[in-house]
Amino acid sequence: MTENAEHLYVHVPFCRTICYYCDFCHVVYREEQAEEWLQALQRETELLSGDKAMRTVYIGGGTPNSLSDDQFARFFSLFQGLCAKDGEFTAEVNPEHLTAFQADVMKACGVNRISMGFQSADDRELQMMNRHHTAADVRDAMHILRERGIDNISLDLMYSLPGQTLASLRRSMETAVSLQPDHLSLYSLTVEENSVFGRKGYRSCDEDTEADMYEMICRELPKYGYKQYEVSNFARNGRESMHNKAYWEYKDFYGLSAGASGKTGNIRYDKPKNIRAYIEDPFAREETLLSTEDMMFEHLMMSLRMKRGLNLQAFEARYGTTVSEVWPDTLSACISEGLLEINDRYLRLTDRGYPVMNEVLIRFLP
Ligand code: SF4
Repeated sequence: MTENAEHLYVHVPFCRTICYYCDFCHVVYREEQAEEWLQALQRETELLSGDKAMRTVYIGGGTPNSLSDDQFARFFSLFQGLCAKDGEFTAEVNPEHLTAFQADVMKACGVNRISMGFQSADDRELQMMNRHHTAADVRDAMHILRERGIDNISLDLMYSLPGQTLASLRRSMETAVSLQPDHLSLYSLTVEENSVFGRKGYRSCDEDTEADMYEMICRELPKYGYKQYEVSNFARNGRESMHNKAYWEYKDFYGLSAGASGKTGNIRYDKPKNIRAYIEDPFAREETLLSTEDMMFEHLMMSLRMKRGLNLQAFEARYGTTVSEVWPDTLSACISEGLLEINDRYLRLTDRGYPVMNEVLIRFLP
């Protein structure tokens, strides 16, 4: 590739079953279609040859381990050696499909971090979401991975589920923590129109309950050693997600495969969401040209999601101007209202500003 991104996202657009809250780009796995997709991806990845090693590679989906064993091995071999030795190579997996074979393949191809859907420890909530695993499946999958030396494991949990209570969320959090992952991502349910939940008229919890849940998450997880470093993300032992931090620091990244997006310089691009269209032309992409104003705002918006905030030096080096030159009035107003602060050359939301992040950001809109 002619661009110079150091981060790569690859989308595997297949799932064995479809979760009722989900409207990501995915289709139910069919071996023949996955075969055609894999051949298209092989053509697309040839573009990467000659690129220097990536700082991070992230294989997401969909469900990467919904592929057959043979496809799974061929898929991961496409990315073997692509990630720097001290880089981060993450793969998403679903616990109920994970096998020792898959763990061996990933280990051999350099995967050193796993992101797994745990979602809830409550079987009734899992069934409601059409998730086909239990907390015990997650424990078993983590055991398989750790036995093979992949010990940097992140679990995803969901909150604000229909009918979920603070008590059931607390039980799910405690169960997840008892499995000792190094990283936890907690996402509130958004009922998407195109999801089964949306079509069935399901609702997430009311605003107050959701706010109480978030407050409990932020209060409780640090007691177990998980430090919040972003709105929805917590890490212990410093194992923050390098790949996601690249997004929040507004770095460039490549996106490969159907449903992926990428960004290089002032161009953001989306690969076809339709798998058939991708198979026919794996190089097709729709580009959006970003103005400097767009980029400066997006950079600020993404970086303020992190507790550490926006690196002011990096901002100035990139745009040749400073945050206080671009938004003089808004910046000083937010600082004097105690919503933002500058510390150590980082601009960050204060404890008061963090819960009202969206309201603060709206004030910076171009
Ligand atoms: S949440 Fe993940 S596993 Fe479930 S349908 Fe969506 S992409 Fe597939």
